[in-house]
Amino acid sequence: MVLKLPIYMDHNATTPVAPEVFEAMRPYFMEQFGNAASRNHPFGWAAEAAVETARAQIAQLIGCKPIEVVFTSGATESDNLAIKGVAYAYREKGNHLITCQIEHHAVLDSCKRLEKEGFQVTYLPVGRCGMVDPEDVARAITEKTILVSIMLANNEIGTIQPLEKIGRICKEREVLLHSDAVQGVGKIPVSVDALGVDLLSLTAHKLYGPKGAGALYVRMGKPRVKLVAQMDGGGHEKGRRSGTLNVPGIVGLGKACELAGHVMADEAMRLTTLRDHLWAGIQGHLDHVHLNGHARLRLPGNLNVSFEGVDGESLLLSLKDVAVSSGSACTSASMEPSYVLKALGIANALAHTSIRFGLGRGSTGEEVDYVVELLAEQVRRLRAMHSGYPMSSAGASLKAARTNDH
Ligand code: PLP
Repeated sequence: MVLKLPIYMDHNATTPVAPEVFEAMRPYFMEQFGNAASRNHPFGWAAEAAVETARAQIAQLIGCKPIEVVFTSGATESDNLAIKGVAYAYREKGNHLITCQIEHHAVLDSCKRLEKEGFQVTYLPVGRCGMVDPEDVARAITEKTILVSIMLANNEIGTIQPLEKIGRICKEREVLLHSDAVQGVGKIPVSVDALGVDLLSLTAHKLYGPKGAGALYVRMGKPRVKLVAQMDGGGHEKGRRSGTLNVPGIVGLGKACELAGHVMADEAMRLTTLRDHLWAGIQGHLDHVHLNGHARLRLPGNLNVSFEGVDGESLLLSLKDVAVSSGSACTSASMEPSYVLKALGIANALAHTSIRFGLGRGSTGEEVDYVVELLAEQVRRLRAMHSGYPMSSAGASLKAARTNDH
């Protein structure tokens, strides 16, 4: 097969729209342009029917009832709605929330906003693989705790959290559990009941759907979750999120979920093999490389590696024709080392040498081989230019880098 450049290896940042998804969306821009809230003519009915189909497709993928799905503009909004919505609804009951240090900014900054308003937030640490200890959750819960929010899988390091255990603890202690499951939905099996979550955020553009369409699962059964809407207006989505529905986007999200349900198992196996091949290739060609995140309990397509002695930004620039990311895409505009890597106990110097590879549906073995060769060449070149190298200093720098381990 002929290798096509540039190569996209940043599927944790976003994914292309799948052709089937695009085809499903197409009619809803032009012929079927109705407003799903227009109850008195066929244009509205067609739009509403399409939205309800999408709701059922999402529900099917995550194992909930269609009525428990609230459409939003994406996971940032879903996270805001879940966290602030619950905080304001349960204010009388308590003012304490628990989350962890490696959450996405959509969660962290929602919590910071609440802190300014008098809420208290515990930011749990993670171990060196990026995992929250469920016992830490249990210990942090107080009588005032109204919500625990722990992501399903991390966007930078791919570590999958022990959410089922956390879910059981929350249930026992009668505390609501929200999960930002953006990176996991469509990649690994997700069942809201098995995980024990009461709220769950997802977004279309991470699972081969369009940007600007997402959803929040809100449990209706026991316990029924109360939520204060963050968007006031026409009372759409049963008052939980006002605003004319993005019908094409929602149709795309639904179709993307349906498709993911069909291909997920095979794709997860294929991507795990490719990802392991990439890591084996890197290790085969280069020494002093370090895997960030959990070796096994991680997203199938995700690999995050520190290349000791190499500046990640310079490496990124030298990997022309390969789209990867240093740190999280959402914060790569800043030159601060990734807060996620810092939370793992990785010192700034080593964190700065890290690259995130995100493999996805379009990724091939040829691409992986090409990237391995290119990496080996460029890392060697950059290391040769780096005065603090070669390896006599490597042991020392590695030791320094890991002194914050916990
Ligand atoms: N949460 C996580 C874990 C993410 O990776 C992202 C995407 O960058 C988001 C939330 C934000 O999602 P959206 O782009 O749909 O607002």
